[in-house]
Amino acid sequence: MEWSIIIMIGAVVALFVLAIILRRTKGKRGEKKVAALLVRLPEKEYRVINDLLIQSGGHSTQIDHVVISVYGIFVIETKYYQGWIYGGENSEYWTQNIYGNKYLFRNPLWQNQGHVKTVARLVGDLSNVPIYNIVAFSHQATIKVDRSLPVMYWRNIVPYIKCHEEVHLTEVQADEIYNTLLSVNVNDKVARKQHLASVKHNQERRNTAVANGKCPRCGGNLVMRDGRYGRFYGCSNYPKCKYILK
Ligand SMILES: [Zn+2]
Repeated sequence: MEWSIIIMIGAVVALFVLAIILRRTKGKRGEKKVAALLVRLPEKEYRVINDLLIQSGGHSTQIDHVVISVYGIFVIETKYYQGWIYGGENSEYWTQNIYGNKYLFRNPLWQNQGHVKTVARLVGDLSNVPIYNIVAFSHQATIKVDRSLPVMYWRNIVPYIKCHEEVHLTEVQADEIYNTLLSVNVNDKVARKQHLASVKHNQERRNTAVANGKCPRCGGNLVMRDGRYGRFYGCSNYPKCKYILK
């Protein structure tokens, strides 16, 4: 009798530990799956860089996937989320709804726009080359986002990229961009670990602030206000801080 209880408790603990490990590795696995899909792009026309880490000016940027071609540059942010995904182009936070539980996460289009800017800076002279911002969710998610936005399922990334047929670069220019991005990629394992730690820290800080009714930008209080378009939460330090929880 007692033994069976001990075995049961042991099994529950083991499952719990397993769940945590699975959660941790999920993001990485998602990136690997999308990388496997991008291999389907014709090798001669498209150059792919996965998991690009760029360090500049004291901070680092991690980009899940970059596809370089004469048709333009595609910067892809991969999300491995479940549930229904809601969000607008101009909302600071999007919502993940799983079985009635809502979780906020930072607008992934904004997040990836930062990556697009980093790539644009590195491309430099060829500033007229189009750089596309793509956010891709696994099929485990149900995307409830405006269809005009470049937010899609993983399986639609390759068809979406192939839709862009207008030539903007020469092969030589595309090769140059590819080599430039490869040359700035940080391969050092220690630097990569430090980057992950700092990203996690920033996200946690931001989420904790909002959950505690604090402004993630300046630490002021989030207060409810009546605006022209209804009620909203804004920072108590307005107009100094213009943070609004969307
Ligand atoms: Zn504030």
